[in-house]
Amino acid sequence: MKIAVLPGDGIGPEIVAQAVNVLQRLAQDGLKVEMEQAPIGGAGYDAAGDPLPESTLALAKASDAVLLGAVGGPQYDTLPRDKRPERGLLRIRKEMNLFANLRPALLYPELASASTLRPEVVAGLDLMIVRELTGDVYFGQPRGIEVRGGERVGFNTMLYAESEVRRVAHVAFGIAMKRGKKLCSVEKANVLECSELWKEVMIEVAKGYPEVALSHMYVDNAAMQLVRNPKQFDVIVTGNLFGDILSDEASMLTGSIGMLASASLDANNKGLYEPIHGSAPDIAGKNVANPLATILSVAMMLRYTLNQEAVAQRIERAVKKVLVQGLRTADIYTDGTQKVSCSEMGDAVVAAL
Ligand code: NAD
Repeated sequence: MKIAVLPGDGIGPEIVAQAVNVLQRLAQDGLKVEMEQAPIGGAGYDAAGDPLPESTLALAKASDAVLLGAVGGPQYDTLPRDKRPERGLLRIRKEMNLFANLRPALLYPELASASTLRPEVVAGLDLMIVRELTGDVYFGQPRGIEVRGGERVGFNTMLYAESEVRRVAHVAFGIAMKRGKKLCSVEKANVLECSELWKEVMIEVAKGYPEVALSHMYVDNAAMQLVRNPKQFDVIVTGNLFGDILSDEASMLTGSIGMLASASLDANNKGLYEPIHGSAPDIAGKNVANPLATILSVAMMLRYTLNQEAVAQRIERAVKKVLVQGLRTADIYTDGTQKVSCSEMGDAVVAAL
């Protein structure tokens, strides 16, 4: 199995190095992986004048899975828009046709006090948001800013083809089958035609998954329910715009951005795996970042693309073990625990493996 490793910028290289160590440790036990590194984001711009160099895209397409750190940094913020690091990320998702974004929000009981919500509301939280990633108002045409009636108007188009809804529905139902068999489709069908179609297609696809209980919720209610009683959810499926907002909200339920992994999949379960956080320029180069989100992204890679469920669980158990041991990077540190660096945390996970 070939993995393209794209560390990116800021803390990217530090956290990805720890994830690579984990993969190398698993390789000692017989996991057959081959890794190759390439630049993306600001590093891609520095190396080849392009946030997604041709050679990086070719490597990603030729690999079974992609492991990405993070992109971006203040030194790149003044570049022309198409040269900015974030553009490299949007392009690789589009080029690889990664239409389904999986964002688990899982709260380890050891970290319940890190959430801003009361522990009894969030302890034991384990939900998965499936966000459609390549359609919706972010890509719909027409879009623009133009002068109408003597003033500027800005406009975008919320648009979903039924085939786009159907394919992400299948991914979400498939995941629900592997979890608690509960799927909540989130839209705004009371006011948006685009959502009306979304809901109709979800109901059609549900017929092929009689074991999954499908429910529907308007996005404004979903935003409220996520903080009121987040444990009512198992899997949520939603469009690109609503998913963007709700998945960030869900991540904060867990209290630490440094703990959360993500996957973006295509129709054949080939995928790009990355922590949900950014490049954290404020702590880059200091060896203090939390590498666990990236390590848990490797677990997702093993589960969803490489079909190695047992190895995925082995990584998750190792992460749990270091938390039980009381090891914490600065972002999740509380009194009475032991503060460790990024590389010490990575070493501890390898030792726990
Ligand atoms: P960020 O996620 O990089 O950082 C937000 C805060 O969380 C910072 O205080 C940071 O120190 C902290 N943090 C993030 N990851 C951490 C980790 N693993 N361990 C400990 N602390 C961590 O978001 P931002 O500051 O808004 O953005 C910084 C840069 O990252 C920008 O250039 C932005 O465009 C980019 N970004 C990239 C991605 C991506 O690559 N997927 C996502 C979001 C932002």
